[in-house]
Amino acid sequence: MHDSGAVRTRSQLTRDLRLARGTASVLVAGLAEAGLLHEEPAPGHARGRPTQVPGPHPHGPVALAADVREDAWELAACELGGRVTVLDVRPHDGTPQGTLGPLGEAVAAHRRRLGHRVVGVGVALAGPIRHGGLVDIAHLGWRSVDVPALLNLPDGPAAQPGAPAFEPGETGARPGEPRPGTPVIGNDTVLAALAEARRGHLRDVRVGLHLHVDFDLGGVLVVDGRPVPGASGAGAEFGHMPLSGGDRPCPCGATGCWGMDVGANALLRDVGLAHGGGRGREQAERVLATNGEAVEANARALGRGVAALVNAHDPEVVTLSGHGVELLQRAGQALMAACEPGLMAIRRDRPPRIEGSALGWRGSLLGAMESVFDHFLTPEGLELWRKNHPDQARDTPDRQSVTYSTLARHKPL
Ligand SMILES: [Zn+2]
Repeated sequence: MHDSGAVRTRSQLTRDLRLARGTASVLVAGLAEAGLLHEEPAPGHARGRPTQVPGPHPHGPVALAADVREDAWELAACELGGRVTVLDVRPHDGTPQGTLGPLGEAVAAHRRRLGHRVVGVGVALAGPIRHGGLVDIAHLGWRSVDVPALLNLPDGPAAQPGAPAFEPGETGARPGEPRPGTPVIGNDTVLAALAEARRGHLRDVRVGLHLHVDFDLGGVLVVDGRPVPGASGAGAEFGHMPLSGGDRPCPCGATGCWGMDVGANALLRDVGLAHGGGRGREQAERVLATNGEAVEANARALGRGVAALVNAHDPEVVTLSGHGVELLQRAGQALMAACEPGLMAIRRDRPPRIEGSALGWRGSLLGAMESVFDHFLTPEGLELWRKNHPDQARDTPDRQSVTYSTLARHKPL
């Protein structure tokens, strides 16, 4: 139900999973009783016994997911099946405390409100994540920032279940190390790639390449649906390879990084505007919409780097998220014209498809959600849910509804 987006009917799921109909009925009844799913008649069903579509239970589990960009963060409540309700969007001042402090407070407030429904917290960040949730965001001057400490989430009903499911890189946590209430911390590109593999154009793709373009770009190889995060979890950094022939010093400490030539910072620099420090998103969007020359320069740099990575990894598909979608739409020809000469002769007959993400800007947030539910949808996670959840009847729908919020800005998607 979760993987297929809560749109398949019970009989379709029964077939997908090769279950007997009686077994499926028993399972669905048990999951409904545990407050995990709820069936609704399929829309548009005309006559006879309506086909049921299993979806999230109105009092069922919620993953709180946050996408922390260089200039703002977004917090959402996500239900099984992938329905997202944005709870809060706030700009921040770029400092670790000024960014993560208010986010932690907002998460804590929603955890109190939603109570035991919250089964975990996932946070995407625009930088490499090392063991235990240490993040470096070069553009903002962050070095080894301890994200869990600054979020300062109290332990509580949102204990992180399924401890053994933690994996380095995808989560930033060391195996065997998670503490109750510990958020799942991940790199924004890795999480966008994970979401693309679950719900986008990398679904059922054996080897794919995902590139996420924001102020600069990150990239990661996706094998059998899993981003390859590197030994310490800090691997999704294709943006810091010298792939576009530049020689500018990069805030990361290296020289000539690809990310210096692709993304919002490069667009702003090309037209002589101030850039860096996570500032200038609106101006960059204006440049993207109006300045064909700057957009093409960005797209050409992107194309050159894609060729190098395709030569190395032989992906079936290259997916682009964030500004990558607009670069492809607005300057796809320039991108391909720069890519093709860089391809090895053996790759030119069948160059990989380059596609805009199916999830747009929502990928990192959805990936954070998937990481939380990956821990929850385990025997240990479900057991813990059942234990914490003995009596559905005591839920107060108003207080615990996902969409109820005292915050001014929230909108269901
Ligand atoms: Zn760099």
